[in-house]
Amino acid sequence: MESYTLLKPALMTPRRIVITTHHKPDGDAMGSSLALYHYLLQKGHTVHVITPSDYPYFLHWLPGNAEVVVFTAQQQKAKELVKEAELIFCLDFNNLKRINELGEVIAGSSAPKVLIDHHLEPENFDQFRLWNSKACATAELIYEFITGLGDSPLIDKAIATCLYTGIMTDTGSFRFPSTTAAVHRIIASLIDAGAENSRIHELIYDTSSESRLRFLGYCLSEKLEVLPAYRTGLIAVSREELERFQVTTGDTEGIVNYALSIYNIKFAALIIDRSEVVKLSFRSKGEFPANEIAKKYFEGGGHRNAAGGQSKDALDEVVKKFKSVLEEYKELLNQ
Ligand code: 5GP
Ligand code: MN
Repeated sequence: MESYTLLKPALMTPRRIVITTHHKPDGDAMGSSLALYHYLLQKGHTVHVITPSDYPYFLHWLPGNAEVVVFTAQQQKAKELVKEAELIFCLDFNNLKRINELGEVIAGSSAPKVLIDHHLEPENFDQFRLWNSKACATAELIYEFITGLGDSPLIDKAIATCLYTGIMTDTGSFRFPSTTAAVHRIIASLIDAGAENSRIHELIYDTSSESRLRFLGYCLSEKLEVLPAYRTGLIAVSREELERFQVTTGDTEGIVNYALSIYNIKFAALIIDRSEVVKLSFRSKGEFPANEIAKKYFEGGGHRNAAGGQSKDALDEVVKKFKSVLEEYKELLNQ
């Protein structure tokens, strides 16, 4: 694995470049990808962002969004772009399995891969790497990438807006422990470069549909199960409920945090019966390793305080298994 700085000569001449990110991209995945997209365009390259799946409506305003190729909607085009690519950037994921079918397409390409990520234990599929698990967001690493190549003057309003969005969403609006003084300095420089901070907060957090808010209310009043013995809050949602509230991509974002916001609760889970799989979303406070549970029991992973996984079992089976896992962690949860 080579350092990303060795890419500098390769980026001196125009290249055909693909940027991709994880399944159901979040604010950091899209913000990082589109920031890098705008930067590489400025450098004279031909660039395409390909996402493995669709992503939340509250990210559709990001500059460059109209040019994104969604693999599930435009498979042929995406495959052609990957085939023609001379360089492939993989952002905000550490394992080609995280990008589903698109992973196989990318694995089949001989173009060098560049991994830029902050998740633990990256798989070896890349030739160049900018990786730091302490980074608060992949967007922080994209900032480092651009400045490290000596191009900070190229950070314009579009790039600043995308990077601000990535850092804001992955730090829970600058509140997680990963939000260091250095991160705040980066944020200040992004505002200087044109990021409209207040407007970005509004576009991300204050654009819910009425049905999304009603669904949240339903989850909190009817579905939240508090397990005091395990200091855990759990919300499990069935397929029928998703349909009843017309839940779309992005509508479930953030719900798990409400369960974690209860006094004395250390661990929270949102378990959703999606059509393909049952998806689990974990959050924890302090030292409790949410990612360990995701990895060990639910084919997943993530960060210590924000992790996730999945299961092919029926929803009630998954909930049952989740509760039995809690028993194993009872002591740690009550420390
Ligand atoms: P979320 O709960 O927002 O979907 O995911 C939180 C974090 O958990 C993500 O940033 C990612 O690191 C991790 N994560 C979520 N789902 C999965 C999964 O299925 N596999 C892996 N390896 N990580 C996941
Ligand atoms: Mn991220």
